[in-house]
Amino acid sequence: MAGQSGDNADPTDSGYYKAKYQSLEDLPSVGPATASKLREIGLKTVESIAMATNAELTAAGLGEETAAKIIEAARKSIAITFVRGDELVELRKQIKRLTTGCPSLDSLLKGGLETQSLTEFYGEFGTGKSQVCHQLCVTVQLPEAQGGLEGGALYIDTENTFRPERIQQMARRFGLDPMEALKKIIFAEAYTSEHQMFLLDNADEVIKENNVRLIIVDSLTSHFRSEYLGWEMLANRQQLLNKHMHKLMRLSRAFNTVAAITNQVMAQPDAFFTKGVVPVGGHIVGHMSHSRIFLRKGRGNIRVAKLTVSPSLPEGEVPIRITEQGIESDEEI
Ligand code: ADP
Ligand code: MG
Repeated sequence: MAGQSGDNADPTDSGYYKAKYQSLEDLPSVGPATASKLREIGLKTVESIAMATNAELTAAGLGEETAAKIIEAARKSIAITFVRGDELVELRKQIKRLTTGCPSLDSLLKGGLETQSLTEFYGEFGTGKSQVCHQLCVTVQLPEAQGGLEGGALYIDTENTFRPERIQQMARRFGLDPMEALKKIIFAEAYTSEHQMFLLDNADEVIKENNVRLIIVDSLTSHFRSEYLGWEMLANRQQLLNKHMHKLMRLSRAFNTVAAITNQVMAQPDAFFTKGVVPVGGHIVGHMSHSRIFLRKGRGNIRVAKLTVSPSLPEGEVPIRITEQGIESDEEI
């Protein structure tokens, strides 16, 4: 089923909807000065203006009325407004699924990861979260007929575990030229949580220009967790995580991309179904991740992937195997 939806979509249209206005200056009441203010706060495309709030624009020095007018024009341009149920069906046809390249994982996810939503992989160290992310960077480049999205990937790495050599290995498996595959991956290492947020806040143009269809944040929580210690900093941390995830969500909708995040776990002995661990980030991360997949170790190179949260699919688990080739199916648990 992967890649079968949205047959009539224009492949040159990188956005969720085809924008009427191409650049900021095309929007009514946006001259060069306003456009440069907007760009300064990371709103460089009509798509991201449409997803912005009035407060963001007024904070950048725009008047209330102008802010509202610009946002409205941007929203109309990309058709974000009230829709009827039947129109919603049409819009949802734009949602595509990206194959993981691993048949058992795809079957758990009924074809793969959905665009316009956040998918979280969580689990202990070494359970394969980053390996899955690497593989998605390759499969996103495949033709739609093979479950890909014919686009590039944006990889925000907070743990310094991205390895281009691993991408090259996986690219060969999927019949792609290893060097060409690397060219379609935009990589950024985030040194602090603030830097991580900055990167995403300024990603819209990069996404548009490079036809990015997959955004990865690996891991979402590591910097936040190490920088914000103790109860007195918790509220602040959660507020920033919330903002960061909202930004990711908005980018994923505006550009019809898959957004995959990884998350560490912490011990919680009464978490029976996930072997005594729960993902970091509490309710904020939990509520914003549409699908959550728990990875745990099995024997040797075997891992078990369990779908613990999904808006439309039943829970379930499948075995996978991490090999030289990447993430593959396995028969046993
Ligand atoms: P996490 O991100 O969950 O901490 P990783 O995705 O980095 O974990 O997965 C690490 C696992 O992947 C290790 O068990 C490692 O042996 C395996 N792995 C990494 N590269 C290869 C490879 N080239 N061939 C086989 N296994 C690999
Ligand atoms: Mg990792």
